[in-house]
Amino acid sequence: MRSHLPSFLVERGPARKGRRDCGAHEWYNHNGVVARCYHCEVGERPWTAPPGA
Ligand SMILES: [Zn+2]
Repeated sequence: MRSHLPSFLVERGPARKGRRDCGAHEWYNHNGVVARCYHCEVGERPWTAPPGA
């Protein structure tokens, strides 16, 4: 019998969004109500249109 690890244990993508504050949030309009950060998951705030837009 040959045992191998389930793929979900092996494939851990390195390019995951950080769960910690990236320290340099860049906001994007998530759904017109909430703005989120490109770089991390903790970056979240109410969306307000950028000034001048
Ligand atoms: Zn961030």
